[in-house]
Amino acid sequence: MTEQTGVDAAVVTGTRHACSGGLATVKVVKPGIFDASALQTADRGAPLVVDFRLSRNATLHAWKSGELTRHQICDAQYELIRTATHCGELTRRRCPICVEDEVSSPLKEVTYVFGPRLPKQGRCISRPGELEEFQLRKQTFSAYVVEVCLECNWNHIMRRMLLGGNG
Ligand SMILES: [Zn+2]
Repeated sequence: MTEQTGVDAAVVTGTRHACSGGLATVKVVKPGIFDASALQTADRGAPLVVDFRLSRNATLHAWKSGELTRHQICDAQYELIRTATHCGELTRRRCPICVEDEVSSPLKEVTYVFGPRLPKQGRCISRPGELEEFQLRKQTFSAYVVEVCLECNWNHIMRRMLLGGNG
């Protein structure tokens, strides 16, 4: 079962520039599944991080077992693909879906930040140091890092970071 979450996972609306597209949806196969130990109370000044690798693994397992189709998990919307193309950060990881086709597509990561005075669809991080600037703010922000395959449209949230709160 694929569940689309709400709140921070707003529907994409309008665009201002190549990287303004918001986080369309976040797949959570089994809500609440994440490694509690992955909730890192990081060193002072570093963001609190929630790791979604277990949820990602559950999604991939559901696909391999036939519970989910490829069409269901490779569903990145146009704006997410466009944002990943222009603002995504290239990773060293290969797409877990494309590898089945013996295609070696590198994944990109896109980071969206949600919080006060930001667009409801989130702001895409598009320059070095931008995320660190949020970390220094008084207000609290949530940043979602999403991995995207430009070849097959696979996408999954990788981690959530809580930023700011320096008051
Ligand atoms: Zn792929």
